[in-house]
Parts: sequence; structure tokens; C-alpha cells
Amino acid sequence: MKVMKFGGTSVGSVNSILNLKSIVESAAVNENVIVVVSALGGVTDKLIKTSQLAVNGDESFNEEFQNIVTRHHELIYSVIHCEEKRNELLKEVDKLLNELDNIYQGLALINNITPKSEATIVSYGERISSRIVTALIDGAVRYNSRQFIRTEVKHGKNILASEETDRLIHETFDGKNDRIIVVPGFIAQDKESNEITNLGRGGSDYTAAIIAAALNAEILEIWTDVDGFMTADPKVINNAYTIEHLSYVEATELCNFGAKVVYPPTIYPVFKANIPIAIKNTFNPGGDGTIINANSTSDGRLIKGISSINDTDLLTVQGLGMVGIVGVNHRIFSTLAAADISVFLVAQASSENSTSIGLRHVDAEKACNVLNNEFAKEISMGLMEPVTAASDLSTVAIVGENMRHNAGIIGKLFHTLGRNGINVIACAQGGQETNISFVINNKFLRKTLNVIHDSFFLSEYKVLNLFICGVGTVGGSLIEQIASQRQKLLDEHRLKLNIVGIANSRHAIFDREGLDIANYKSELMNSPESSIEDMRNSIIKMNIFNSVFVDCTANSAVADLYADLLEHNISVVAANKIAASSSYEKYAQLKNIARQRNIKYLFETNVGAGLPIINTINDLINSGDKILKIEAVLSGTLNFIFNMLSEDVSLSHTVRLAQEKGYSEPDPRIDLSGKDVIRKLVILAREAGYTIEQEDIETKLFIPDELFEGTLENFWERLPELDADFESERKKLEAEKMHWRFIARFQDNKGSVSLCKVSQHHPFYNLEGSNNIVLLTTERYKEYPMLIKGYGAGASLTAAGVFADIMRIANI
Ligand code: ADP
Ligand code: ASP
Ligand code: MG
Repeated sequence: MKVMKFGGTSVGSVNSILNLKSIVESAAVNENVIVVVSALGGVTDKLIKTSQLAVNGDESFNEEFQNIVTRHHELIYSVIHCEEKRNELLKEVDKLLNELDNIYQGLALINNITPKSEATIVSYGERISSRIVTALIDGAVRYNSRQFIRTEVKHGKNILASEETDRLIHETFDGKNDRIIVVPGFIAQDKESNEITNLGRGGSDYTAAIIAAALNAEILEIWTDVDGFMTADPKVINNAYTIEHLSYVEATELCNFGAKVVYPPTIYPVFKANIPIAIKNTFNPGGDGTIINANSTSDGRLIKGISSINDTDLLTVQGLGMVGIVGVNHRIFSTLAAADISVFLVAQASSENSTSIGLRHVDAEKACNVLNNEFAKEISMGLMEPVTAASDLSTVAIVGENMRHNAGIIGKLFHTLGRNGINVIACAQGGQETNISFVINNKFLRKTLNVIHDSFFLSEYKVLNLFICGVGTVGGSLIEQIASQRQKLLDEHRLKLNIVGIANSRHAIFDREGLDIANYKSELMNSPESSIEDMRNSIIKMNIFNSVFVDCTANSAVADLYADLLEHNISVVAANKIAASSSYEKYAQLKNIARQRNIKYLFETNVGAGLPIINTINDLINSGDKILKIEAVLSGTLNFIFNMLSEDVSLSHTVRLAQEKGYSEPDPRIDLSGKDVIRKLVILAREAGYTIEQEDIETKLFIPDELFEGTLENFWERLPELDADFESERKKLEAEKMHWRFIARFQDNKGSVSLCKVSQHHPFYNLEGSNNIVLLTTERYKEYPMLIKGYGAGASLTAAGVFADIMRIANI
């Protein structure tokens, strides 16, 4: 015999209830089954809400009541097609609904509700649903759970009267051979007064477990709307997945901490009787689901699941007067127990001067009052401080039997949380080591669940959440590259790149589940206007884990956001060089924040687009080398210009070409003035370990100052004035078999940028097109300096370099 429990989600709609019928009927072919049913999904809530409206004299309770009637009628008409059967069922159901209506009318008159009438009202949900299910299933017989599920009052609460219930279950079921028995879950009866009671919200699971244990069922099946017990609540973590197996201990730990899929008291009766529980999906009956039994699995995973309670308050009982005094904890807990307050987390430091207690928000005020009374004398003498509660907190638990005797789990947990800017307010791990619980601020709950899931369940995939700012040539190309690499990264590296935000200077779009990359352009254009400040606020408010801000703009206001973003534990990847080349103080500040927060600020593409220059310098320095000299052609634009100059192509023409091909900055004067090269040289020197500012770089320009002073149009107009002189210089150079190169140098703490002539034997002589070259003289590479050479400009190469920085953050 087996017991099958179907939750509200499995009797809530035509589809689900028809699934239930076929699941039960096929199970009953082989053995007798007892089917425990909940009220139709959401009906218990509605019953409670309607009674509150009625008590408050809000006339809309009539309408709410009618909705309840219609919901049941519609379901009956849709699933019971035999008219005779349907009429018979409707007669029974309408009788119950009439009684319910009368109770509501009574409530509206007396404006008061007692626990007794509340229990009566909520009982109608299961009383009606069980009748519908019985009528629907051929050959089913309905048993009334009030006859055998009994409760008694302890500390003002209804709890199961186990012995009497056990005896009554045997009296009711022994000797019966009904193939399919339907039992309403949740409802019970007080053993003394015979009044209707219940087993608490979600209690149908418990009804089923009690019956399964008493009758020694072969298995207890809990049918719900998800594929089993999952690694976390799938409504919060969308990549949570089904856990194949849990031990009773693990399941208990997870349920007690808010995994709603099983009502916590359910496990104990079946654990005691050693009956396995299977959690199955009514909407996917063929799925494996989860098995819970006495075995522990060692599939190598450190933790099995994560659960949370989001209405936590933390009470702290503290005072130097508590140190070394025996009995304070005894008084705290007996006081709370006497007030019937349940505590789910306790943390006490070894110094003994404070004890923190995690409990539900509804109990917090009462708990403070009783404790302040208990310790009134100590508080008045200044030995202890008044007890206060901190609210808006959540408790998170990670659970798994494999955590036992396994070093490093707490380290990994807190490292992951810290890197994501999540502060742990209190934590507890019992000696059993199967559960680590900790308290955090409510606003970090979703992020916490995500980061833990991400870092402990690597077998699925790791997620990186990207905000891409700037969708010009570089940003646009980056988005395309991500789109084309995404599947491969997921398949081969288990890395999911989620673009959760895209912004340009006037619009921004966000989606924490990931934006639709195919349509981002139109979506962005049609989104409301949004400033850079709005974008910053939205990113920080999203508070999303493992996030990276990618700056593909050349905008200084965007660069100004980095410190703030890094402070919020968002890594920054910048193609924008403004920040790294601004004041040394700013540069050092950004690097420091990133270091302290264990996140990344990367800007490889600031110099040489996709060429690995900064990373090479970092690797040399980190492995103990010292950079003695840097010589480089760092402007693809200038190199392109000087390589293109010929008798037929004048200076002004080549500058125009460079701009049209996208090699130069939108305003080519930034390149011609050497400003861009100065910025790059400053960044390289800083990465090489030197403290230097842009003003320290000596500059020799080849274009007169006044051309830089006017407007851009003015510049284009006047540039041809230089063509003739340049051409005659070029001719001379050609005769001498030399080339012009705009060279950046750094040595002995001094930097310079200038137009130089290089002879045929110089390594910079052959530098085609817009290529860059960097010559690094170091202590190790002294006689033959290290040479890095290649394309140093272009949107798609820069985008690829940005992509490589993102991969560095993902640690691939
Ligand atoms: P039922 O009506 O079948 O009793 P419940 O709503 O009580 O269903 O429980 C199922 C819900 O529990 C799921 O829809 C899911 O959102 C939630 N849930 C929370 N934590 C977990 C978890 N770890 N695994 C599966 N479901 C979970
Ligand atoms: N119908 C009850 C509730 O919603 C019991 C249950 O569904 O388990 O709490
Ligand atoms: Mg439930």
C-alpha cells in the first residue's frame, strides 16, 4: 500500500486534477492507495482573506466568497461529465458552501473571529476538494480525516495527539480493502472538545505522513508542481535542479529552514517508521523526482541544498556583566520557551558577553519584552543592556551530510559572500556539521542564494552577469562576439554569460534573467530616456551576484562611476582609458578597492587593443622581474597615417582616412596631439610599478598648437595647410631610407612622446598599417628586449580584448 499526497498545485486546475486522476488510477492497478488531498491551490488563502474582510465589515467579502464558489463550480463542470454524478457532487458541495456563507455572514455581523471559527472556515477547502477528487476517480471512497487525525493543545497550540491518532487510524483502516481511499489533508479534530482543528499551514503533507507511518506504507509520495526537492527554491534560483536523493536529516534541515516543498513535521513520522518519501511532479509524472530515506549519498557534492527564511529578527542579549556568569543562557531560553517563542538560530561568542538569537519577526516584540522583564534587575544595574531586535533580516542555511568532517566549507562560503559584498551578521554551525546557517540583510537574500548556488553547485554552470555600457563599434562588436561564443562557453566551460544590462548615453535596459541579445538595439531605442546616474542607480539596486560592468565608451562621466561600482563589489572591465590614465591617486584608489574587495578592475585594451601588453607586464612583475625601459609605438592611428603618406596621399588625406576607417578616436586630434599615446604610456608605466602623471610626460608634437585650439571643423579646414611641408620632409626621409614613427618612451622615471626617424635596422622600422609595437627591457630581458607586436586598433579586436578580460574574471 502506498500513500500519495497531492498539494494545492495538483488540484488547482482542470489539467492538474486530470493528471492526478490518471496518476492515481495507474498506481491503483498494482496496489491499494490512499490519496491525501489539499484544498484547491490558493483556496486556503482565499478563505482566510474573505474572513478578514467579513470581520472588518468590508462588503467585498461577498464577492470574494462568490469567487470561491465559482472556482469550485467551474472545476466540477469541467471535469465531471456524468450528469448524475455531477449533480450529486454539486449538492454536497453547495451544502458546504452554504454553511460557509452563513459563517461569513455571521462574522460580518459580530465583527469578531475566534480561532475555532477560523479553523472551521479553513477546513472547507479540503472538505470540498476531497469530494471533487473522490467523484472524479473511479471506485474511490472518501474517508473523513476528522475521525482519526486528532490534536491536543500544548502551550496554547494544537499539536498532534500521536497515540490516539495512531490508534484511530488502525481502527478506521484495519480490515478495509478499498482500492482507492481519498482523505482530506490538513484538517483534524481536537481530542477533548471534538472541535475542528488543523495541522498548520501546509499540513496536508503531515496528514499523509501520519497515515503512511501508522499503516506502515511501502512509500509516501508527495506530488507537487516541481520536479522534486531542488537545490534551492526554483522560484528564486532559476538554475536550481532536482536533488536525486536526500537523507532524512538533510531533508529535515532544508524543510525547517523554509524549503516549502515539504511541511517540516512531515519527515519525522516516516523517518521513525523508516518509510521512504518520494517527491514527484504531477505535471511530469515520468520524472525521477527525489527520494528521501535513511541512506546518505556521497556523490562528491559538498552541500545538498540551500534554503532560507526571510522574516528573521535578530535579538542580542549583551553586557559585560554576562561574562562568566553561569545560567544566563538558561534564563534566556526558559523565558522564551515559557512565552512559547521558538528560536531557530543561536550564536554566542566565546567571550560570552553577547548571545544572538534568530527568530521570526512576529515573535520579536514579545521576545524583547519577556527578556527585558526577566533581566530587568541586571539592566537597571548596568550589567546588561536592554534587549532590542534588529529586523529586515534573512536566515540562510546550507545543508548536506558531506559537510561533516570536510575542511574549508565555511571558508569557501564566506569568501564567496565577501567577494559579492554580502555581510554576515551572525552565523551558527552545530556540532553535527550538517547545517551552516547565517543571518544577512534581507536586501541581499536573492543575491546570497544565487552566489552560493553558483559556487557550490558547479556541476551545473557558473554565471557571470554583465552590464555593457556603450553600444558603438566596440560595444556592438562585443555583444555579437558574446552571442556567438555563448553556447560554446556553456557547453565546454560551464560558464553562462548573462547580459543583464545594456546602456548607451541616453537609454538603458535591464533584465536580471538575461536580455534578448537579438533584439537589444530596438529594445534600447524604445526604452525610456535614462541618464548615466539612472543607469548607476539601477545597476546598484539590482544587486546582482558575480556582476561585471563593461565600459565600452570613451566617456569620463562613465569612468567616474567605477569607484562606486567597485565599492558595490561589481568588477569593472574598461576599454575606456580615462580612469586608468587620470590622476595617479584615482588609478591607485580603483586598484585598491578592487584588491580589497577581491574583485577585478581590468583594462587590457587601454593599450594596444587586443595585444597582451598589460597582462604581460603584470606577469613579469608578479614573477619578480623589473621593467627598466618601455619603448613603443602605441598609436595605430599615427602609425597608419605615417605609413600611408606618399606623394599621392597627403597628410590631411591620411588623417581623414584614419578617421573613416575607425582607427582614430572620433576626434582625431586626440591621436594627433599625442594625448592618446600619453595616456597609454602613463598606464603602462603605472602597471610597471611607477608613479607617474600625464603632465610628467615630455611631448614633442608635429602639428602646431593652434590647430588643437579651435573647433573640429576648423581643424579639418586648416589641416591641409600642413600638407606641403610634410611632403617635402617625407621626400627627404625617403632619400635617407628612414621611417617616421611616433614613439613613446619610459626610462629612469621619465617619459616622452615624440615623432622620431628610425633607420632600417631599428625594430620599429617595419611596422605595417596600424600595428603597435612594444619593446620591454627588463632585468630578465635586457640584452634582447621582449617584443610584442600586432594589430593595435580596430573595434572588433578591442572587443575581443574586452572579452578576454571578462574571461579572466570568470577564471577561464
Ligand atoms: P503543494 O501545493 O504541492 O503543497 P507547495 O507550494 O507547498 O506545493 O510547495 C511547492 C513549492 O515549494 C514549489 O513550487 C517551490 O516554489 C517551493 N520550494 C521552495 N524550496 C524548494 C526546494 N528546495 N525544492 C523544491 N521546491 C521548493
Ligand atoms: N490547504 C492547506 C494550506 O494551504 C494545507 C496544505 O495545502 O497542505 O496550508
Ligand atoms: Mg505544501
